[in-house]
Amino acid sequence: MTTIRLHNTKTRRKEEFIPLDPENVRMYVCGPTVYDRAHLGNARPVVVFDVLYRLLRHVYGADHVTYVRNFTDVDDKINARAAATGRDIRDITDETIDWYHADMEALGTLRPDQEPRATEFIAPMVAMIADLVAKGHAYEAEGHVLFAVESYANYGALSGRSIDDMIAGARVEVAPYKRNPMDFVLWKPSDDQTPGWDSPWGRGRPGWHIECSAMSYELLGASFDIHGGGNDLQFPHHENEIAQSACAHPEGEFARYWLHNEMLQVEGKKMSKSLGNFFTVRDLLDQGVPGEVIRFVMLGTHYGKPMDWTEVKRAEAEATLRKWYGVLHSHGMTPDAVAALKKAGKWVMDSEFLGVLANDLNTHGAMARLHVLAKARTAAGLAPFAVGLEVLGLIDDWTALPALAGKAVAERAVEGWVDEVVVNLLDKRQAARAAKDFATADQVRDLLNAAGVQVTDVAGQASWQPGPDFDPSKLEDLR
Ligand code: AMP
Ligand code: ZN
Repeated sequence: MTTIRLHNTKTRRKEEFIPLDPENVRMYVCGPTVYDRAHLGNARPVVVFDVLYRLLRHVYGADHVTYVRNFTDVDDKINARAAATGRDIRDITDETIDWYHADMEALGTLRPDQEPRATEFIAPMVAMIADLVAKGHAYEAEGHVLFAVESYANYGALSGRSIDDMIAGARVEVAPYKRNPMDFVLWKPSDDQTPGWDSPWGRGRPGWHIECSAMSYELLGASFDIHGGGNDLQFPHHENEIAQSACAHPEGEFARYWLHNEMLQVEGKKMSKSLGNFFTVRDLLDQGVPGEVIRFVMLGTHYGKPMDWTEVKRAEAEATLRKWYGVLHSHGMTPDAVAALKKAGKWVMDSEFLGVLANDLNTHGAMARLHVLAKARTAAGLAPFAVGLEVLGLIDDWTALPALAGKAVAERAVEGWVDEVVVNLLDKRQAARAAKDFATADQVRDLLNAAGVQVTDVAGQASWQPGPDFDPSKLEDLR
C-alpha cells in the first residue's frame, strides 16, 4: 500500500499517515460561514482537501473514506446580513450554500460525503455543553456558558502558546463575567430578534467553536484521522475545538493529524473580507477564467506555503492545461478508449507521480511529473498521465475532453495569415486528390502535420484547428 506522509501541525513533523480504520478513513474540514459568495482564499482549503480526499480514495478505496465539511449557518455575520437586507436568514443561508456548491463544483471539487449544517445539530451541541458544565470544564455566567481554559492543561498545545502568551498577544474580548480573559463562549443568550433555541441556560445560540466539536463527534466519533482548515483557524478555533472535545470525550483522541493550508494572498496580505482585498471565485469565472485554470494555479503552490494569485500564473496555467487536454484529445482519449484501457488493465497510476503526491501533497512536484508523462504518444501510453489528471481533479468526465481541449482553439490567437495559408493548402490538397495526384496530396499533408495543424474532414469539407504542437513558423515560407 502507498505510504502517505503528512505534515501534522500537532507534532510539527511530517509523519507517516496510519488511519485508525483503513476501512473507514475519516476527515473533517472546517467549512464556510454562509452569508456571502466564497472569495478565492476560501477556495484554497476546498481545493487542497479535495486533492487529499481524492488521494485517500485512491489509496483506501472510494467507499472507505468519509469526508465531512460543515456549513456554519448560525453566526452574527449572518444575522447582520439579514437585518441589513430584511431577508429571512434561511433564504440567505440556502442561497449562499447553492452558490458555494456551484462555485466549488466549477473548481472540480467533489462534494464531501456529509455537509452538516450547524442549525441541524443544536441538540448535540447543547448536550455537549451540558456535559462540559457537569464535568467542571464550563460555567454559566449572565446567560452565557463559557469554557474554562484553565480546566484543560493542554490548552495552547496545537499552536504552541501558553495561556499567558495568548493573553498578551491576542485581542481578547474582555467581559466582566469571564473568569479568565481567554475563556471562550459555548452558548450565548439571544434576544427576540435573533435566532435562538431553548436550552438549560435559557433561549440562546451556540458559539462558533462548539459546532465542529459536536458535529465531528456525531458523524465521525470521538477519535478520527484528519482535521483540516486554513492556518488562520489554528488559533483560537482549532485550539478551542480540541479543548472542548478532549474534555467532553476524554476516551477519544479527537483528530490525530492536523493539516493547515497557508493563506492565499494579494500583494503580500491575506485575502479576506475584513481587509476588503478580495475577489470571489464567481468574479473570476464570470471574467471567463475557467475553473480548471483556477484549480491548476492553486495546485502549483504547496498547501503549506502562502500563495499569490497573479495574472502571469493564470496565463501559464491556461496554456499548459490546453496543451495537456489537447494531447489527450488528439490521441483519442474518448470515454470508450478510457473504458477499454480500464478493461485491459492499462488504466494505471504512475508510481513516481503517486509517490510525489503522497509526500505531504506535493502537488507542484506531481505536476512536474505530469509534464514528463504527457510526452507519450499513444492513448495507452498516455493512460498514467490521464489518471494523474483525474487524481488532481483536473478532469472527471471524459465526455468533457473535446470541450476542454477545444477551448484551446477558441482561445489561442491565430494570426490571419496563418488561416489563409492553411486554407490554401487544404484547397491544394483537395485539388490534388481530385486529380489523383497523391504525391502532392501527401506532401501537403506532411507539411500540415509538421506545423501541428489538425485537419478534420467531414462530408468532403475540410476544417482545421491548431493541435497541441502547433507551430505556425513552419508555414512562414508560404506566407
Ligand atoms: P471562513 O468562512 O472565513 O470561516 O473561512 C472558510 C475557510 O476558508 C477556512 O478554512 C479558512 O481558513 C479559509 N480561508 C479564509 N481566508 C483564506 C485565505 N486568504 N487563504 C486561504 N484560506 C482561507
Ligand atoms: Zn471548525
